[in-house]
Amino acid sequence: MAINVREKYLKSSDKMSWWDMLYLPAILKGMTVTLKHFLFTKAYTVEYPEQRKPVAERFRGRHVMKRDEEGRERCTACFCCMYSCPADCIRIEAGEVTPEIQSNHPEDKYAKVFEIDLLRCIFCGMCQDACPKAAIFLEGDYELAQGNDRDAYILTKMVMMESESKPRKVRR
Ligand code: SF4
Ligand code: SF4
Repeated sequence: MAINVREKYLKSSDKMSWWDMLYLPAILKGMTVTLKHFLFTKAYTVEYPEQRKPVAERFRGRHVMKRDEEGRERCTACFCCMYSCPADCIRIEAGEVTPEIQSNHPEDKYAKVFEIDLLRCIFCGMCQDACPKAAIFLEGDYELAQGNDRDAYILTKMVMMESESKPRKVRR
């Protein structure tokens, strides 16, 4: 009965020919497509972590703090980034610049403490946009896992300045 109903509603062009019912040609056709991709299509995956793909120019990864052309810390502890942060994850303590450390700072205030809680950060980039001194940027580092300890996810100024040990030109 079921077969009769099916045949009633099938158009003659929908009926399978004996060639179709062999199935083998369709399987071979599919395998040819698979083989073509296997041999000639460029792989989009890489064997991470041995291989890494470059991130996009606008990617927002871990924060980096910059120095100016004279090697001084660009951050002047103005708090703009802290007040712009929607996740409330930046903590800054400002310090007075004394004559002994003046050569490392362009103005009379500096960030004695500058910390970002990476577990709260949503990597929105608003701190970077708000900074009037071009001092903080979210760059390409995406390997942020540090273990199970919450304290390990507090990003300190020292870590953020690691890549800035030498004076270099900032991009902006
Ligand atoms: S990226 Fe966004 S959430 Fe993270 S510290 Fe900057 S402003 Fe805050
Ligand atoms: S990083 Fe920029 S916005 Fe944040 S306190 Fe320093 S100078 Fe101000």
